[in-house]
Amino acid sequence: MTANASSPVRTRFAPSPTGFLHLGGARTALFSWAFARHHQGTFVLRIEDTDVERSTPEAVQAILDSMDWLGMQPDEGPFYQMQRMDRYREVIAQMLAAGTAYHCYSTPEEVEAMREAARARGDKPRYDGTWRPEPGKTLPPVPEGRKPVVRFKNPQTGATAWNDLVKGPISFDNGELDDLIIARPDGTPTYNFCVVVDDWDMGITHVLRGDDHVNNTPRQINILRALGATLPEYGHVPMILGPDGEKLSKRHGAVNVMEYDREGYLPEAMINYLARLGWSHGDDEIFSREQLVEWFDTLHLSKSASQWDPKKLNWVNAHYIKQMDPAELARRVARRIAARGGRPEKTDLPGVMALLKDRAETLEQLADGAMLFCGEFKPASPELAAQHLTERAREALADFAARARDADWTRESISALIKAVLADRGLKMPQLGIPLRVAVTGQAQTPAVDAVLALLGKETVLARLEAAQGSR
Ligand code: GLU
Repeated sequence: MTANASSPVRTRFAPSPTGFLHLGGARTALFSWAFARHHQGTFVLRIEDTDVERSTPEAVQAILDSMDWLGMQPDEGPFYQMQRMDRYREVIAQMLAAGTAYHCYSTPEEVEAMREAARARGDKPRYDGTWRPEPGKTLPPVPEGRKPVVRFKNPQTGATAWNDLVKGPISFDNGELDDLIIARPDGTPTYNFCVVVDDWDMGITHVLRGDDHVNNTPRQINILRALGATLPEYGHVPMILGPDGEKLSKRHGAVNVMEYDREGYLPEAMINYLARLGWSHGDDEIFSREQLVEWFDTLHLSKSASQWDPKKLNWVNAHYIKQMDPAELARRVARRIAARGGRPEKTDLPGVMALLKDRAETLEQLADGAMLFCGEFKPASPELAAQHLTERAREALADFAARARDADWTRESISALIKAVLADRGLKMPQLGIPLRVAVTGQAQTPAVDAVLALLGKETVLARLEAAQGSR
């Protein structure tokens, strides 16, 4: 799918690169991405890096990596706000010229005193408008040598309202909104102002973002209006809470999205799971990326906070693992096996995946399981051997080995062979199954023994059986 220039829909994801991309950010990005895709529109990535103290190139890279991993590539961008400073200054100059913004020479101390005075009167603490130009008003003399800030001349009456795509109608009294500082004394633009200019310049039609931004929206709308810009629609998504109902913390999910890659979650499962945090399509829990795009119209975004549920994420991940092609799983798990010092090429890895995938919740678990076939063989401990490789068991193993030499080596033929030994020797399955596991894998518990033996290969199995007999 690619962007379609004829679709009017343009969304953006606008992270501040002050840290990795966490779950909340990833979900915001996902909603903006899916909405753009649904309308064959354009998804823009904008890096809001004007907080130079806290923004880092590593964080930018972490965000790009995460979006890449989740398959949410932008159609336009990444744009960097730090590269757009000239444009912001240009718009500030235009606003000053148009009278929609003004220089304010009050010092921070003076503004604090104004706020204090307002508080003492029982009013909302705010800037008192000393430098706000009004018809017929004489402004104070400009203090010598003092650099002004630029303030936006916010409307003082009426209300600023919008019909939020998530929360419904929202309205703020303009009287409650301060004349926002849009440029600092050194001329650098402030946060809300950069967002406004960017959303305007980038032709953003729909802003989907976290509801921690609700208070910024009336300020941004008023500036957009002053600029004569077309307003985007806004949708503010409630936050994600931890399983305990508290704010998401490191303990449960406020971690780097890439951590989920390290822990063996599939991006497919992450997307599916993240989408369900605050959005629904009937009772559907499992859906593909394509279905999400087909269904994602924002109309089913929840007004209430959603809760992070690691068990459900595991369930979704297990589902995707189970239905994934074993060869594809093998491709994804190979590097994890190598990281454990195993040799993925040592075995029929897709066969191993087919054996393990129904019981694995993560790719890491698959890699752990695959080490039985790709790792160094560690013979059973003397205790385990003494417990399971009894005289009777050794006889059965010798019998099995003798018959195995000329047998076919498929799971089915091995199963038949085991059954034949059991029948002839009057044994029950565990009486041969467990000694076989102990002798051949060094462990008493493994997946189905016939499948394990088939995957290990006849030569390996016979050699290990012989070694186990010799270890007496
Ligand atoms: N840069 C802001 C953040 O990371 C988002 C701005 C926006 O979406 O309007 O929270």
